[in-house]
Amino acid sequence: MAEDPNSWDIATRLVRGGLARTEHGETSEALFLTQSFAYDSPEEAEARFTGESPGFVYARYGSPTVKMFEDRLALLEEAELCRATASGMAAVYLAMMGLLKAGDHVVAGRALFGSCRWLLANWAPRFGIAVTLVDGPDLEAWRAALRPGTRMVLLESPANPLLEICDIAEIARMAHEAGARVVVDNVFATPLYQSPLKLGADVVVYSATKHIDGQGRVLGGALLCSEALFEEAYRDLFRHTGPAMSPFNAWILLKSLETIDLRVTRQSATAAALADLAAAHPKVRACRYPTRPDHPQAAIAARQMSGGGSLVAFDLGDKASAFRFLGALELIDISNNLGDAKSMATHPSTTTHRAMSEDQRLEIGLTEGWVRLSVGLESQADLARDLSRALDAV
Ligand SMILES: *Cc1c(COP(=O)(O)O)cnc(C)c1O
Repeated sequence: MAEDPNSWDIATRLVRGGLARTEHGETSEALFLTQSFAYDSPEEAEARFTGESPGFVYARYGSPTVKMFEDRLALLEEAELCRATASGMAAVYLAMMGLLKAGDHVVAGRALFGSCRWLLANWAPRFGIAVTLVDGPDLEAWRAALRPGTRMVLLESPANPLLEICDIAEIARMAHEAGARVVVDNVFATPLYQSPLKLGADVVVYSATKHIDGQGRVLGGALLCSEALFEEAYRDLFRHTGPAMSPFNAWILLKSLETIDLRVTRQSATAAALADLAAAHPKVRACRYPTRPDHPQAAIAARQMSGGGSLVAFDLGDKASAFRFLGALELIDISNNLGDAKSMATHPSTTTHRAMSEDQRLEIGLTEGWVRLSVGLESQADLARDLSRALDAV
């Protein structure tokens, strides 16, 4: 008799979870490139369409390789259900649109991934959806912003780019009291270091493009929630608007999940060491990393995260210093991506956060001296040498 996957440790879930072998007994997950499915009889076709018979009907609704990826990620997250999407933003958009209608109100943390913020600022108003942005760590601000009619709370923790941390359990409790659903973008923490559903969130979204792939190849996303909420808010929207992940990307991401704990564990250990190195350098005004005691929300991080993650942010004072630092890097790439095997550094205020006004950037503490570093899988010694040399060059 086969073991119950729910009894497995995480490392086993990542390698074996969701595996559905064909009659060939292939050891690696099969890649099914098919748009549709044939049925043995009209009765079977009817039963598939009514849902009485499990199985696939059309790849926009679901397909075998994508389902293996969804089942593996759901098992990792201990979620009832996961649906894979073509990108992280497709998952965020689905998460929002399934919960909201005209006249509703949203409260969101101010520090959000650029495209998420764009959706709230520029897209939600087209549907008569009101949005209040608050400082993520300020619980009083969340409490004051929630009101009858608040249907959704959206937050990112740690948030891009300065790794600000929100108290997910407390915000979820307040949001539920106000009748709102809670959506958490868990990209920076990764599924290994934070479990928002266990902290009270209703929906978790990922950009699988980041640590889940972790090797810079494909776009992908995922939405995880209970079966009941999926049925209520998302099932029909998902089927009829077409955000489905391609089977090829699902196959890549399935294989990536096999190694995500090895990669993220190593990346986090290196990131913690590089954060300490940066913090001790005379050119660095401030350094943010979730497990450093000088992180402004260190206590919350210790409560809700089991590791710091692969991102570090530090302030070099002004744009010229930040540019001198980036220009002096010889190993670490200048790139806005994150979670990759290759280490990358970016200057958020002139790239990822360029679309925000200076006032909006100041509201999230993002001055022109800040650099964000995504730590990869290179040796810690080589990265430390490159980081020190570039900091000395400032
Ligand atoms: C990258 C990212 C997204 C968007 O994901 P894509 O795969 O690029 O669409 C959303 N949120 C966060 C925090 C991200 O880092």
